[in-house]
Amino acid sequence: MKIKENILIIGMLWIGLIALSFWWNYSQAVDSLEKNALQSARSFFQQIAITRQWNAKHGGIYVPITEETQPNPYLKVPERDIYISPSLPLTKINPAIMARQLSEVAMEQKGIQFHSTSLKPIRPANKPSQREKAALEEFEQGTLEVGYFFTKDTESHYFYMAPLITKKACLGCHVQQGYKEGDIRGGTSITLPLAKTIPIMSLLFGHLTIALVGLVGIGMGGARLNRAYTTIRRQAVFDALTDIPNRRSFSESILREFKRSRRDQEPLSIILCDIDNFKAYNDTYGHTSGDICLKKVAQAIKKSLHRPADFCARYGGEEFVVILANTSLAGSMLVAERIRKSVVDLAITHKKSLPLNVVSLSLGVAISEDTSLISHEDLIRFADKALYQAKDKGKNRVEAFLEI
Ligand code: GH3
Ligand code: MG
Ligand code: MG
Repeated sequence: MKIKENILIIGMLWIGLIALSFWWNYSQAVDSLEKNALQSARSFFQQIAITRQWNAKHGGIYVPITEETQPNPYLKVPERDIYISPSLPLTKINPAIMARQLSEVAMEQKGIQFHSTSLKPIRPANKPSQREKAALEEFEQGTLEVGYFFTKDTESHYFYMAPLITKKACLGCHVQQGYKEGDIRGGTSITLPLAKTIPIMSLLFGHLTIALVGLVGIGMGGARLNRAYTTIRRQAVFDALTDIPNRRSFSESILREFKRSRRDQEPLSIILCDIDNFKAYNDTYGHTSGDICLKKVAQAIKKSLHRPADFCARYGGEEFVVILANTSLAGSMLVAERIRKSVVDLAITHKKSLPLNVVSLSLGVAISEDTSLISHEDLIRFADKALYQAKDKGKNRVEAFLEI
C-alpha cells in the first residue's frame, strides 16, 4: 500500500472537488444575476406595453401643447390638434410619442432607458441603434426576446428587447406602413443600469478556506496513517524483542534468495545459530536477563554481517538464522566463526556454560552450490544437522554439513 501516493491523490481530489464547487457556485451566481436582470427588464417592458395599449385603446390621448410637447408632424390623423379654449390648445399623442416622453422621465429619474423602434420607423430620427437593429433582425427569425449584460464607458448595463406585436388598435397609425394585425412592427428596448457584480472575492475566500482546512486535515490524517502503517509493517517483519527480522521475514527472504541464486546460478548458504545452555541461563539469571541476553546476541550476529545482501533473523526461541548469498563454503565458515567469536566476546557471564563461563553459540552451516538440485527446506534441514553436530561435538563451535 502506497499511503503517501494515496494521500496525494485524495488531496488532489479534494482540490478538484472544491474547484468544482467554486465553479458551480459562481455559475449559479451568474445565472441568478442574469435571471433577476431579465425579470426586472421584463416587468418594465410589460408596464410600457400596457401603457401603450391603454393609449392605443383610446385612439391616442390629448395633452396640452407646451414647449416640450409640440404637435407631432408625423402623426397624420384628423383632429390632431384641438382647442378646448384659446388658452388650452391640445394635441394628440399616440403610444409611440407617449412612450418616448415616458422614457425621458425614466431616464432623468432612474437612468433607465427605453426606446420603441422599428426597422422601418415612421420618424427617421427614431431609427434603431446597432444593438436594437441586431435584436429586431433576430425577432424576424422568430426570437421572442433578447437580454444580456454589456459594458459601456466602464459601467455595466443590462440590455433587453422584445418585439411589439401589431394589435387591432395599432392599425390606426400603422396600417399606412403595410402592417397587419399580428405582425412584428418593431420592438421596445430597455437598458437598465445594472452592475454585473458577483461576490467573487467572498466566494473565493470561502472556498480557499475550506480547501486549506481540508488539506491540512488530509495531511495530518495521512501522516498519522502513514506512521501507523509504518509501525504495523515493522511489527509484521521485525521481531519485537531483538529488533532484527522475524521468522516470517526469513521465510520470505529464503524463497526470494533461492529464486535469485537459481536464476544467477550462484551458491546460497545458511547458518543456523543456537545459544548454548540457554535454558540454564534463564534458570540461573531469570527470564528478564534471558531477554536482555537474546537482544545482545541478536545485535552481535547482525554486526558480524558486513555485506548488504547478508540477512539475519530470529528463527525462534534462542535460535537465529543467517542467509549468505553468493558466498563460498570457506567464506560462510568464516562468517559463522566471526559470529561465534563476537558472541563470546560479549562476555555475558554464564557460569553454567562450561568451560568458558560465558554465553556462547553453536552454529551449523549448509551451502547449496546449485539450488536447482535441492529445496530451501532441504538447505535448512542440512544446516540443522550441522548445528546438531556442533552441539554434539561440545558446543561453542561451527560445523558444516558436507554431504550435499
Ligand atoms: P542447548 O545448548 O542444547 O541449545 O540447550 P538450551 O538450553 O539452549 O536449549 P533448550 O532448547 O533446552 O532451551 C532453550 C531455552 O530458550 C528454553 C527457553 O526458556 C529459552 N527461550 C526461548 N525463547 C526465549 C525468550 O524469548 N526469552 C527468554 N528469556 N528465553 C527464551
Ligand atoms: Mg534451541
Ligand atoms: Mg540452545
